[in-house]
Amino acid sequence: MPVRAPRICNCGHRVPFGVRCRCEQKQDSERKARFDQTRPNSSQRGYTGAWDKAKAAFLKRHPRCAICGGRAVLVDHKAPHKGNRELFWDKNNWQPLCTPCHSGAKQRQERRNLHEDQK
Ligand SMILES: [Zn+2]
Ligand SMILES: [Zn+2]
Repeated sequence: MPVRAPRICNCGHRVPFGVRCRCEQKQDSERKARFDQTRPNSSQRGYTGAWDKAKAAFLKRHPRCAICGGRAVLVDHKAPHKGNRELFWDKNNWQPLCTPCHSGAKQRQERRNLHEDQK
């Protein structure tokens, strides 16, 4: 059986046939880490339960929509938390909103800030 020639990886390394280059192994593990982050696990399910509880308590104390003053049904993060737990749990970053306002909250809030600046 002929021995297959080693290949040259994109990174410039000579890699024996059938073997992943070190740079490719690194990419593989990074990809796997990213996948693990997006996959829900038991701790994230618990996290959701805790959020539901915190949200309900927050809405009890702040029952009015921050924008229209209607009945608030959800808690919005003023600054997008993007998975950052500190920002996610920072109550200073929470605002009570009703559903219609939530969909247009960001745009409306920006407009309102603009308006207040002009006063
Ligand atoms: Zn490589
Ligand atoms: Zn509202």
